[in-house]
Amino acid sequence: MGTAIIYTPRYLDHRTGGRHPERPRRLTAIINGILESRLIETGCIRLIEPRPASMEDLESIHKAEHINRVRSICSAGGGLLDEETEVSAESFDVAIMAAGGAIEAVERVISGEFSNAFALIRPPGHHAGPDYSEGFCIFNNVAIAARYLQRKHGLERILILDIDTHHGNGTQDIFYDTSSVLYMSIHEDPREFPGTGFIWEVGAGEGRGYTVNIPLPYGSGDPAYWRAMKTVVLPIAEQYRPQFILVSAGFDGYYRDGIGNLALSAQIYPKIFGVIHDLAHKVCGGRLVAVLEGGYNTWLLRRAAAACIARMAGMAIKIMDRRPPINLAAQKGAEKIIEAVKRVQSRYWSI
Ligand SMILES: [Zn+2]
Repeated sequence: MGTAIIYTPRYLDHRTGGRHPERPRRLTAIINGILESRLIETGCIRLIEPRPASMEDLESIHKAEHINRVRSICSAGGGLLDEETEVSAESFDVAIMAAGGAIEAVERVISGEFSNAFALIRPPGHHAGPDYSEGFCIFNNVAIAARYLQRKHGLERILILDIDTHHGNGTQDIFYDTSSVLYMSIHEDPREFPGTGFIWEVGAGEGRGYTVNIPLPYGSGDPAYWRAMKTVVLPIAEQYRPQFILVSAGFDGYYRDGIGNLALSAQIYPKIFGVIHDLAHKVCGGRLVAVLEGGYNTWLLRRAAAACIARMAGMAIKIMDRRPPINLAAQKGAEKIIEAVKRVQSRYWSI
């Protein structure tokens, strides 16, 4: 058993230009952190090389026009897919490998070979929808992995928990009208970006009540995050009884991230993983896969990712860092938002 880390140096070949925050150095920082932590020497953690996703895998989520457009821009040498998403000649192949990495992770866990897995992949995915790229995301890796679990293993209830500081609009879009995937996201106020993820977005049709958005004010910090986790996310997750938990693991809520605005501490990340790990053991035999999304501070990535992976493997690594400043007004605002989320979601869940 143990924990699998899915990674290939191929993920460094998606080049986004020197000044772009979503750069290869994010992943080398994480890998260096893992090597420094000597986690692999414990024998509880193994590195696994992914295979590329198939066209069938991609087309289970994305329209052919979107896939073809990405392919043709990359084969012409690269450029901008949208305002924020830069690609190079290699990016199409790397993006397929990223989706394949998410699939590899769920396959290794559902088969029982590993207890859980972390897919250390890029480009990230949760802003990509059926026919669009957005926010550094090309293909929606976590959605492709969820669909794979449905298609190949017949799963009927999958929880996607999105802890990236931004709302995963692509993932929400893809599963908005189904109850077979419960999408829950704690994120920063989405008015500036991506413009979705408000409290009243709860799903549609058969999917009503299976989208849960908790949009916290900028600067909310750890106490508000925990309140959202404990009073909304955990009770709903337990009632849903997922057969598998997928985590869209973004580290950009960190207070020195440079992009994100949630003002979280470094220390909260392994704690979040501890709670999710325990939840997975309670509801789905421990079946848990984390998929890397955002996170742009390489100091944090180097320490937090290893600490989270250690927590998944039942170990602990301490992170030494100064605590973020406390913003009482934001905390108060967050409490009101969380109460409002509970009022809206109490129509579907007992919270
Ligand atoms: Zn993000």
